[in-house]
Amino acid sequence: MTATAPREEQLWSRCAGCASLLYRKRLRRNLDVCPECGEHSRLGAPERLRQLVDPGSLRLLADRLPEADPLDFVDVLPYPHRLTGARASTGLAEGVVCATATIGGHPVALAVMDFRFLGGSLGCAVGELITRAAERALDDRTPLVLITASGGARMQEGALSLMQMATVSQAIAALREAGLLTVSVLTDPTYGGVAASFATNTDLVLAESGARMGFAGPRVIRQITGRALPEGFQTADFLLRHGQVDMVVQRRSLRGRLMALLAATRAGRPARPPVPRQEPASRRERLADDGAALARPADPAAEGDDGTPAVRDAWDTVRMARHPGRPTTLDYLDSVFDGFVELHGDRLGADCPAIVGGVARLAGRYVMVIGHQKGHTTAELVARNFGMASPAGHRKALRLMRLAARLGLPVVTLVDTPGADPGVSAEEQGQAAAIAENILTLTVLPTPVLAVITGEGGSGGALALAVADRVLMLENAVYSVISPEGCAAILWPDRSAAPQAARALRLTAPDLRRLGVVDEVVSEPSSAAHDDPADTAHRLRAALLANLLPLLDVPPAMLVRLRRQRFRRFGANRVGARADLR
Ligand SMILES: [Zn+2]
Repeated sequence: MTATAPREEQLWSRCAGCASLLYRKRLRRNLDVCPECGEHSRLGAPERLRQLVDPGSLRLLADRLPEADPLDFVDVLPYPHRLTGARASTGLAEGVVCATATIGGHPVALAVMDFRFLGGSLGCAVGELITRAAERALDDRTPLVLITASGGARMQEGALSLMQMATVSQAIAALREAGLLTVSVLTDPTYGGVAASFATNTDLVLAESGARMGFAGPRVIRQITGRALPEGFQTADFLLRHGQVDMVVQRRSLRGRLMALLAATRAGRPARPPVPRQEPASRRERLADDGAALARPADPAAEGDDGTPAVRDAWDTVRMARHPGRPTTLDYLDSVFDGFVELHGDRLGADCPAIVGGVARLAGRYVMVIGHQKGHTTAELVARNFGMASPAGHRKALRLMRLAARLGLPVVTLVDTPGADPGVSAEEQGQAAAIAENILTLTVLPTPVLAVITGEGGSGGALALAVADRVLMLENAVYSVISPEGCAAILWPDRSAAPQAARALRLTAPDLRRLGVVDEVVSEPSSAAHDDPADTAHRLRAALLANLLPLLDVPPAMLVRLRRQRFRRFGANRVGARADLR
């Protein structure tokens, strides 16, 4: 944010807001807020902690985890080189600093993200560290304070970084259940997978003055919509106006506001019934030891029903997954299920055509089916917004999930979306928070949830329907933290590197099975799903039944426990345990 003349670097910096030349010591005394124009410059995590917590109260939590490069990711630089560079330039082990401390005498656990470290991106280690901070809050029965600053999920860890959105969200859910306050403070910038999970599914969301938050970044939205963005789009004041944050806070008031909120919630706490707690060791042990019948480890030897591993190039698979002839959710509702009765609306003012849902029968049993709907013709695709759900679509899905749980119906989701709607109105209506609430709700939903990636599993929009007891994936579907084109545009010189990015991202069904993101690959006819939809439907139906029936016998509380274990594994146990992908 601040550019400086090289030799004067230590003494002066230029304000990014008003271009005033400022004496650095004066700037720091003013909490890195420009005394001339009020511009809040970005803070590293250590400085942020220094400003917020009571002197002498800070206890850093462990920040060392085994090295992780789960995909062997290489763009123009190997991922480990980028990590080494980030460590050298920040002096941090990872992109988040976690600690316990007191703020105005109130004990809290904190996780503070640092944008200087690979754009504050959410990878397995960051997700694991924040999850541990949340578990520490649960063990200590203190509130959790998250300070977010992130461009989103970490591309170099592919779908495993996407899983972190679920892992951290379920840790937030556990604090909700225990009656412990969670607060997030949005700082500039907070985007993508972080915005669409723990930055917005906390009890309270504060935005620091000057912060911008959104699901899709402004550049992406401009590119896709071809429209100029409204003045002040995604800024803290915009978020306040659109009902997405509790308050906008100047940096100098942040500590005071947190103190007041912590004091108020502490006053209310003794009234709550005590919640039984587990010791950290026992919880972690159980995590490792539990039978986890619903999350069988990947078995690379058992690919497809005829034993032949998929050898198709990842980019060809991407094109196959996007083929306009590929069966859609409504096609499957017709061919795999019986008696579908569609339910509409989010009850808040809209009905999103990109999500369809309702009750149907699967081999005589009632289920709630929710899926993304694309189309086969251009007119159908346009009418369905290409399967890109708006916040209303996510809220409709949320309503149907909760209804299913109340009625004791299992939920089957069919995922086929390039991603959530990245439009201006989607941002105004709280796209990030809508996705975040779905992810969190699925981690607590007391009914079986079975997800199938049928075509494109595009980032947070896909995960909003895919936090499940069992995750299946059609052979030629893809599931990824970012589109290959988007990844190429960021990490390679240009978008023409999309085929290389597709390979690096490990987004195919066999790769994701090996990584444990997917439990089972549903084979397609030898040609592909679009050449023989009837045979594809037959295979999908058999796979759904084989996976759903065992879930029906599991008590809901155990289902939820096992589901959380399934997603908790992607942090601790994945890190360092590299899957052999070659
Ligand atoms: Zn200024």
